[in-house]
Amino acid sequence: MTTVSLGIPSVPPRGFGNISAVEPFPRAAHRELGNAQLRANLGHATHTIRDKRLRVVSELPDWEALRDAGSAIKTEAMSRLPELLTQFEEQFTARGGTVHWARDAAEANRIVEGLIRQTGASEVVKVKSMATQEIGLNEYLEERGIAALETDLAELIVQLGHDKPSHILVPAIHKNRTEIRDIFLAEMPDVAPSLTDEPRRLAMAARAHLRRKFLSAKVAISGANFGIAETGTLGVVESEGNGRMCLTLPETLITVMGIEKVLPRAQDLEVFMQLLPRSSTGERMNPYTSLWTGVTPGDGPQNVHVILLDNGRTRALADRHGRSALHCIRCSACMNVCPVYERTGGHAYGSTYPGPIGAILSPLLTGVEAEENSSLPYASSLCGACFDACPVKINIPEILVHLRGEDVEAKHAPRSGSGGRRRGLPTQMDVALGAASWALSSGDRLGLLEKGLPVARALAGRDGKFTRLPGLAAGWTQSRDAPAPPSESFRSWWKKREKAAGPAKGDGTTDGAAGGRAKGDGATDGAAGGRAKGDGATEGEAQ
Ligand code: SF4
Repeated sequence: MTTVSLGIPSVPPRGFGNISAVEPFPRAAHRELGNAQLRANLGHATHTIRDKRLRVVSELPDWEALRDAGSAIKTEAMSRLPELLTQFEEQFTARGGTVHWARDAAEANRIVEGLIRQTGASEVVKVKSMATQEIGLNEYLEERGIAALETDLAELIVQLGHDKPSHILVPAIHKNRTEIRDIFLAEMPDVAPSLTDEPRRLAMAARAHLRRKFLSAKVAISGANFGIAETGTLGVVESEGNGRMCLTLPETLITVMGIEKVLPRAQDLEVFMQLLPRSSTGERMNPYTSLWTGVTPGDGPQNVHVILLDNGRTRALADRHGRSALHCIRCSACMNVCPVYERTGGHAYGSTYPGPIGAILSPLLTGVEAEENSSLPYASSLCGACFDACPVKINIPEILVHLRGEDVEAKHAPRSGSGGRRRGLPTQMDVALGAASWALSSGDRLGLLEKGLPVARALAGRDGKFTRLPGLAAGWTQSRDAPAPPSESFRSWWKKREKAAGPAKGDGTTDGAAGGRAKGDGATDGAAGGRAKGDGATEGEAQ
């Protein structure tokens, strides 16, 4: 066993691979919004899964307690991560498996390639795995002459279509069945030319194709939903049985697992096996759950490896506001309720991790100062639906706001070097925020600016709206009008009102300017005879 010191490095390494967007989210989202087929498919699928999830979740009277338990276990696991990983390594090794540690995507890919080379195989079968998508393993192996065949049906469709997954749970959500038939006809050498787009026929074609591969593969590659520190056990949760084939038939099994997937105890599974299927597919229990612990002589793979992948996770862990993103169990419930994801789809996020979790996880893994991911924390309306749906109660909106703050810090940090990345001329936003800071930090300056309000009001015209604003503000009026400002500021109105009312009374109450009467509960009548409500709200125009 090798000695491992994880800890939290002073400068945690950033993650690499398919977690960096290639273009800013707004531009990618704009393009994806033009795809009507995608929007229709997404709308249908997300609503169907969402309704199923609600039905099965409402069956459990202790659902909230389960969410709390899931969150508590993950918090414990993250706080004991170095210790738990070392324990996992000891247990896995003691049972005949081999543990490898990978700092980043490049290292993990190299380790997998080396292990495959030792077997002499040039083709491997794969169980759907986010971690291997994250490190770009398929592309890496392909460039080196090793074919990695995805065996999950949706992943297979995406792979044969030379495409990218757009949803964690339903990777081919953006394809309709006619497109799938065309992909099979073009890319599956053994498929009958008479193949129709009937779902059953498509599934049978994929099944026949995959069976031949399962039976001949010498090496399988998987991810892992969980790693149990107490016993050195790995677990994969799936629906199609392809995972079970991969995990049991080939001689060599290589698993790539993110270090955050470790759980302290086997008993913790009782919580997660209730949370995960209900939150992901809306099922009470998924059809296949495979657990394996090292090597069992004469039964299943005899050459068993696990690669423990960091790739930015210690960096995320070092962020005390963002680290709870590592609690994610990749159920995709947050995606299915997100109004932004529902319209843009997964490709707009440019990462293996789309939707609300992707908007926080990708920047946390790479660092939000990485230019390519800096727009992701803004890909949200902050409506909070993701937080409500998350089975482990990750407060995604709070982390999004935190990352937005980090992004602003990184972009607008002083030039004399507090880590900001911008070094060029000030942007329009810098100038606007500088001017706002100058005006708002002095009452006299603000009063001076407020004298321009009547002019702005007059410029708005008779309908009291601006239909087009200049410069930076133009974005606001691209799809809506901006209301004209009032012709007088509140402060000026209040001053006049106070003056008209005369000196304040000894009991602290003040008469209104037009005969109003201040109430003991703090409510105030409006200047034009408005009526104060008992709850402290004020009616009447303050102008
Ligand atoms: S953030 Fe929560 S809801 Fe979203 S995929 Fe992760 S566990 Fe599921």
